Amino acid sequence: MKAVDTEAIVLRTAAYSEADRLVTYLTPAVGKLVGIARNARSSRKRFGHCLEPCSRVTLTYKPGTGLAWLERSQLLDAHLALREDLPRWSYAALITEILAEMTPEGDAQEPLYLLTRSTLEQLASDPDPLNVVILFLVRFMHTMGHLPDFQQCRVCRAPLAGQGQWIWQLPEGRLLCPAHRANGSSPLELDLGTLLLLNQAAQLPLTRLWRLRVRKDRRQALRRALLEWVMAQTHRPLKTLKVVAQFERLPQPDPPGIG
Ligand SMILES: [Zn+2]
Repeated sequence: MKAVDTEAIVLRTAAYSEADRLVTYLTPAVGKLVGIARNARSSRKRFGHCLEPCSRVTLTYKPGTGLAWLERSQLLDAHLALREDLPRWSYAALITEILAEMTPEGDAQEPLYLLTRSTLEQLASDPDPLNVVILFLVRFMHTMGHLPDFQQCRVCRAPLAGQGQWIWQLPEGRLLCPAHRANGSSPLELDLGTLLLLNQAAQLPLTRLWRLRVRKDRRQALRRALLEWVMAQTHRPLKTLKVVAQFERLPQPDPPGIG
């Protein structure tokens, strides 16, 4: 089969056999791509640092049935600034884990690729990395089609307006207006300003996304709810949350129920 050239971001890498490595990529044209880098452990010349998570690379591979065969790779950006800052690096690891868990294989995912590329760059330079993570999670869930409708109450269809706290009811993911708020298992109160910001984070062009600022007193609850929502889709805990928690020392979302 003919070799294919693409740009890609490394999501994860693992030993496959004595000499080979199994590498999971995010690509614009085929979404998640899992391939074997043969003799990667001994052949630094062919792969060098191109197999490190978060590295942005060019890649030449031969599609196979199941796994692809990786032929060559060249480093475009190793994100060294991220690697040298452990709290930021833990956020990057969280983002790549979510991508590896949720991105389908074989479908074009250009908006997702561009979001990921932009997120890693922003995460390296933004003075406020947690803000970047929250905006990524909102935009990612929107791009994947998993973001709940934050435009109207699920019960009465009332549009966003007025006074009072709206409720994002988890794990069902329903948005309820102040008149229809009920006792959910894990309700998150959302003021109108935060709801408008969530909708902007889903819709704004990428170049303007990072200008949005989530209110400081809203961040922890929102981050926690978004991660809980991610795990409600994947049905498994996110391993990297333990690492993130070591740096944040903050309450973490509950692991998902089995089902
Ligand atoms: Zn309502």
